[in-house]
Amino acid sequence: MKADLICVGNELLTGLVENSNAGYLSRSLWTAGIAVRESCVVADDKKMIASALNRAIGQSDIVIITGGLGPTDDDLTREALADILGRSLSINQNWVDKLESFFRKRGLTMTDNNRKQAMVIEGSTMLENKNGTAPGAVIEEQGKFIFMLPGPPNEMKEMFEEDVLPRISHNIYGGINRVKTIKCAGIGESQLEEKIKSLGEWKLPKISYIARGHEVHLQIKGNGNQDEADDTIAEAENRLRDLLGDYIYGSDNDTLAERMAYLLKERMWTLALAESCTGGLMCDAVTDIPGSSHFFRGGVVSYSREAKINVLGIEKLLIEQEGEISAATAEAMARAASSLFKADCGVGITGVAGPQSDSTGRPVGLVYIAAVTPDGFKCHELIFGGGRRAIKEKAVQTAFNILRRMLDEK
Ligand code: ATP
Ligand code: MG
Repeated sequence: MKADLICVGNELLTGLVENSNAGYLSRSLWTAGIAVRESCVVADDKKMIASALNRAIGQSDIVIITGGLGPTDDDLTREALADILGRSLSINQNWVDKLESFFRKRGLTMTDNNRKQAMVIEGSTMLENKNGTAPGAVIEEQGKFIFMLPGPPNEMKEMFEEDVLPRISHNIYGGINRVKTIKCAGIGESQLEEKIKSLGEWKLPKISYIARGHEVHLQIKGNGNQDEADDTIAEAENRLRDLLGDYIYGSDNDTLAERMAYLLKERMWTLALAESCTGGLMCDAVTDIPGSSHFFRGGVVSYSREAKINVLGIEKLLIEQEGEISAATAEAMARAASSLFKADCGVGITGVAGPQSDSTGRPVGLVYIAAVTPDGFKCHELIFGGGRRAIKEKAVQTAFNILRRMLDEK
């Protein structure tokens, strides 16, 4: 089962609007076990849209086209599709009524060109748009399915999830094709592959490796009927968990930060931070976690030596002897954060974000991350590649992972 995607819009071609629909749809289809054969962007031009549709229908079983369903003259998707299928377009009174009430509720009067959005292609099924005025549609043509979805991402996504995906899974796809993502952190892609290969004779289902910054995601595919797909995935997941232990932090929609937050909340422990080279990025990332107010006490950006001494209260002598970028300073920062904010856990990060090495010759990318919990203490020395931003981001993700692994220890 293959799919083709077409995104319509001049603004996508000029780059004024980023084509986020294509990425979202490709990812969602892949997760549902459907590969995208071709994905393209075309102008608001009836001939171009028609030619892209012809090509897509010719080569794939599922075609999804987004955009160009609006009320204005440059919205031409409906007309182009009706043309190539040789089907008529007619006004659907039900939808006209819906549009009128949509506008009335918002205290607006409907203009004539909005009626265009109530034009339906002969033999198509309309798809409800809860967030806008352009309905979607699904059309079956010689055993193939063509989905027309609106361009605005929020409208498109809801329609895709509510109407397109269930139709694809239940009515079109013979059997189930599931993908489960197992998320790993703290181990590189090649090291991971080596380990998995060491399982040798055991026949794993196909596993794809996806490197995502500091993480590697493993996608396991299972197919057949529901039970077969579930069994294949469960068996593979168990084997991977045995093999990889706490390199695995979660699956599917889990994030490293949320896993860490979950473990903190489970123990009813609180967290405070002292950041130097990350400049507050970890505080930012922690406060992105929903419910962070339950466990996050606060943080200090102690960027200068003075701030480390005067705000955090770290001994001057220690910094002079060990250096600002050292394991000892990271540890002192973690402990100072936890006592300053009366938090159970503290994290301290100090390092060289570059582009030049620090005055004492410590290399760019050298970062010390220390974490303290009521159960113990860890400090890691790391070298990260990339520019300033990449180093900061990797440091924050690594800090999440260090704390997560400490909290995960039974
Ligand atoms: P409308 O009723 O808003 O005109 P429409 O279905 O005709 O909806 P378009 O006119 O193609 O959709 O796009 C409307 C807006 O949606 C665009 O200005 C753009 O901001 C956004 N949009 C369209 N296509 C995409 C896409 N592929 N990725 C991200 N945003 C998109
Ligand atoms: Mg439009």
